[in-house]
Amino acid sequence: MSAALSLRERVALFALRLVNRASRALKRGSGTVAGGRVGLRLAPSLLASLARGRTIIAVSGTNGKTTTTALCVAGWGGEVTTNATGANMPAGHAAALAATSNDRVVLEVDEAWLADVVAATRPAVAVLLNLSRDQLDRANEVRQLAERWRQCLGDPRNGDLVVVANANDPLVVYAALGANHVRWCDVPTGWTLDARSCPRCTLALHHGENSWSCSCGLAKPATTTSIDGDDLLVDAGRAELALALPGQFNRANAAMAATALAEVGVDLGESLTRMGAVEGVEGRYTTRAWNGHHLHLLLAKNPAGFDALLSTVSADESDVWVAINANVADGRDPSWLYDVNFERLAGHRVWCFGERRLDLATRLDYAGVNFVVADDPLRVPIASESVELLANYTAFQEWLARSVPC
Ligand SMILES: [Zn+2]
Repeated sequence: MSAALSLRERVALFALRLVNRASRALKRGSGTVAGGRVGLRLAPSLLASLARGRTIIAVSGTNGKTTTTALCVAGWGGEVTTNATGANMPAGHAAALAATSNDRVVLEVDEAWLADVVAATRPAVAVLLNLSRDQLDRANEVRQLAERWRQCLGDPRNGDLVVVANANDPLVVYAALGANHVRWCDVPTGWTLDARSCPRCTLALHHGENSWSCSCGLAKPATTTSIDGDDLLVDAGRAELALALPGQFNRANAAMAATALAEVGVDLGESLTRMGAVEGVEGRYTTRAWNGHHLHLLLAKNPAGFDALLSTVSADESDVWVAINANVADGRDPSWLYDVNFERLAGHRVWCFGERRLDLATRLDYAGVNFVVADDPLRVPIASESVELLANYTAFQEWLARSVPC
């Protein structure tokens, strides 16, 4: 690999590894982003050179990209290079590619960086899951993102790219229509509130049963990937879709991952069998012990993500824990809580945790949901069964850190 690098790139690669080794030694995390930044500053072409000659699947979208990336890695089998969680911008990609010389690479890509990463790494396949609002205080408006994706995918320089796109998300369809090769996927997509109006002409979209359209002609395209009962269909192939991960949204993630892997020559049945063994992703979906409680940890960062998780909570009278922070990494504005369909939790008793537990409690009060503000988590009664704990980003990290596997 290094034979293809220029002298400047070799120096940058050396610096990247040096910084990462130093920050690991100083216990400042894995150092992937710090080293990647230094490397790209010394040689902006480093990412492109490190990516050259490899088969890359890029995964982007507002929700599900970490899980779908993990499913692609598992489904591919063998040695696969991927970027560390939270390092889904070019610095993290450069660090991941510098760490190995594997031919097989799956990159999780922040949706705002998709065009840059596609231009630099020339992936074989880009998986586009969905687009919805995230972090209200950040600059990117979801329609601007769709417009930037569209420009990237319609660029003739990306003419060989195969796009695996969610046909049930109008914003993704609008973005992907300009691409040369698109595999449209008919997958469960619960959240359409961010696509009430047409991305092309702004008129109201018509949503039918498993269809959507606009009077301007933009409509759900014909699909080649779909779910039929327990099976996934990709073109003429059919295989059982049986996951350990919960929720319709993860069936959608796996369907799109399998479609991407089929494009790089992986057998559908084999990839799904390997994905079926994935039980947790970075602590998500796993059951952990804390202070006598057994907690089933679920992460969601925005209204669409929360709505998807709420649909997995069983309809009984069990306790549910919800933890909300509003740190920089969460977005400082928690008003998105009002866009989440917390009414789904009617019948449960909800314990409110996190720095913004009072905001959450107010929202639950409006939703008519029984709640308790957990000012002192140590005093929450211990249930016999494991409890669902839904948390946003930094709240999830806190609960992951304070709990242990069980
Ligand atoms: Zn329209």
